[in-house]
Amino acid sequence: MDENYKCIFCGKTGVKLWHPMEDLSPKICAKCAQERQSAMMYNEYKWDKYKREAHLTGRKLPLKKWEVNEDGEVPSYAGPNAEGEPFSYTTTLILGSNHTAFVPADEDVDWKVLPTN
Ligand SMILES: [Zn+2]
Repeated sequence: MDENYKCIFCGKTGVKLWHPMEDLSPKICAKCAQERQSAMMYNEYKWDKYKREAHLTGRKLPLKKWEVNEDGEVPSYAGPNAEGEPFSYTTTLILGSNHTAFVPADEDVDWKVLPTN
């Protein structure tokens, strides 16, 4: 494994790591990312199961703090999907006060098989 494949904060290696969308470094692990997640708001939708469509309610709500799951995913803030689930999932993590998007650092590793923690 690439010697640069380690978390910049805790030095962890051999786990899923993320890097900024625009750059290959720094890399960050799920645990350190969880501690640095951005406070996010999302647009509330109501799902109409008879019409099978989602409607914006006009309210903005705070997104619950996420934990990265075993697949390296967190709830997205995009609102309900076509089946009316409240959140879809994404591997993009939004971190820090400037809401930087971090994406899987999967260039040189078999990212999907690495453990999350
Ligand atoms: Zn870390």
